[in-house]
Amino acid sequence: MQKRLTKEEALDLIKNADLKELGKMASARKKELHPKGITTFVVDRNINYTNICWVDCKFCAFYRHEKDADAYVLTFDEIDAKIDELLEIGGTQILFQGGVHPKLKIEWYEDLVEHIHTKYPEITIHGFSSIEIDFIAKVSRISVEEVLERLKVKGLASIPGAGAEILSDKVRDIIAPKKIDSEVWIDIHRKAHKLGIMSTATMMYGTVESDEDIIDHFEMVRKLQDETGGFRAFIMWSFQGQNTELLRLIPDMDKPSSNRYLRLLAVARLYLDNVPNIQSSWVTQGAYIGQMALRFGANDLGSTMMEENVVSSAGAAYSMAKEEMVALIKDIGEIPAVRNTAYETLEKFA
Ligand code: SF4
Repeated sequence: MQKRLTKEEALDLIKNADLKELGKMASARKKELHPKGITTFVVDRNINYTNICWVDCKFCAFYRHEKDADAYVLTFDEIDAKIDELLEIGGTQILFQGGVHPKLKIEWYEDLVEHIHTKYPEITIHGFSSIEIDFIAKVSRISVEEVLERLKVKGLASIPGAGAEILSDKVRDIIAPKKIDSEVWIDIHRKAHKLGIMSTATMMYGTVESDEDIIDHFEMVRKLQDETGGFRAFIMWSFQGQNTELLRLIPDMDKPSSNRYLRLLAVARLYLDNVPNIQSSWVTQGAYIGQMALRFGANDLGSTMMEENVVSSAGAAYSMAKEEMVALIKDIGEIPAVRNTAYETLEKFA
């Protein structure tokens, strides 16, 4: 095992490393972890079962309040119709997330998960961010463990890393003051891992954080992964400002560059030596930088994104057919493969 990067070394890489050199270092690490040269992606669909949310994050353009004219909670029939469409294109996973609805309790979620799992046992439910889980527990007056256990019994297989943003409370207090603290986010993932529910870790950068905050974020993820081994992947993206309160408050906020994205991604690959997969976010960076990210440590191109509402509300509106994903991966000399939620290869395109 290679010597671990220290926080100081990682900070130095972010601030001073030559971008090309950083790419080479991250690619070498990626090759050690994924020697077969396979780059994966998943055919899935985001289903945002509600846009009603009381958390009012300043960087979010997706949420509505209950009385807004365009507020919604999808019916089971509407959800079924979306899953039927997904099955038609051979999809295997739904990324199931909402706003944080102020009134829906555990019984509603149990019915929902049971309904989907019973009707579509071939579909993996990768759902509910730790913010949602925390609030389901609060509004239902039960523990987080009980929420996780009850939803697992009904068919919840995996939880997404959404809501991590930057795991620094001083940053969170500015961009999402009502959101759970960093330690609570970590602890919900810890509890899920201990119950056998694997998850992913994410990071949204490009608001008010410093490089030191980013390293602290990496450190919190690495530390929990040492303890539980429950993160399957790390996914990061830059703040998408359009239509957000945060951009109205700080209108001259710089849009993070592609150089910065690739730089941070490479350092993430090097620092998170215990997280097996790093996902490229072509949804926020575009296809070209998404492809470049494969040269900066990423080994997964994420999802074909049949439907995405949260990031697209804030200006990032991309979608990609399976054939385009395959072509992008082949174009840089790697072997494309469709994967499932557990990052197991389902179909290779040699
Ligand atoms: S990011 Fe999520 S929790 Fe925050 S306001 Fe938007 S929907 Fe709600």
